[in-house]
Amino acid sequence: MYDRFNRKINYLRISVTDRCNLRCRYCMPEEGVILQPHSSILTFDEIVSFVKVAVSMGIDKVRITGGEPLVRKGIVDLVAMISAIDGIKDLAMTTNATYLRKYAFELVNAGLQRVNISLDTLDPEKYRQITRGGDIEETLDGIDAAFEAGLRPVKLNCVIRDNHNESDARTVTEYGKTIGAEVRYIREMNLSSGQFSIVEGGDGGNCSICNRLRLTATGKIKPCLFNDMEFDVRELGNEEAIRQALDKKPACGSYNNTGDFYNLGG
Ligand code: SF4
Repeated sequence: MYDRFNRKINYLRISVTDRCNLRCRYCMPEEGVILQPHSSILTFDEIVSFVKVAVSMGIDKVRITGGEPLVRKGIVDLVAMISAIDGIKDLAMTTNATYLRKYAFELVNAGLQRVNISLDTLDPEKYRQITRGGDIEETLDGIDAAFEAGLRPVKLNCVIRDNHNESDARTVTEYGKTIGAEVRYIREMNLSSGQFSIVEGGDGGNCSICNRLRLTATGKIKPCLFNDMEFDVRELGNEEAIRQALDKKPACGSYNNTGDFYNLGG
């Protein structure tokens, strides 16, 4: 499918939960989040029926995000249900890897192909500070498990302040080289002020070639991360919600005062 700017839209990012076991400073407020009541979170059947319609309209690349997707109960079953849908060529996940040692092999057996893993530093103390309490050993072990299980490629999402020559980014780069992981450098973004830039090493944030739609855990289609517009799939129905999102997808991002990274999946 194409939007009114003739951009091919074939990429769907699905946030399957607004919950996370970490509290990264650039994503989650210190006081935690107001969690959505269970009834407002899409069920697996609702997500799968939505993806089937989206694939029939032209989506062939799906990424599962959160919050932290691996905290969603039954996540391996959901991956299996989505990977069973004909027409999906690329099924990926973005995770903080702290639960990958537990799930990596099951996820591969369920059909997951590749992962992006959040890693901004190799310094255990800085990691604990950035994530407000995370243990970097769990993450590094999760990265090892991703390789052992055969997820490919494994990419590291490294949040930077300004450029990839910052000391922490350089250590992540070197680490990536030693383990065979590609590194993506994501400058810190601000939804409400509309501060964002193109992901170094990726195509996120490049509005002129934007190919994505987002489905939030509460069933809202977001045609753009940096925009307040959203379309409710439970109210409009899957196809109509996708059509309206496609018709209204903006030429480029501006700002977003209605969502947060933890419930939009970045
Ligand atoms: S800001 Fe919006 S249009 Fe630009 S790349 Fe992100 S989602 Fe696409």
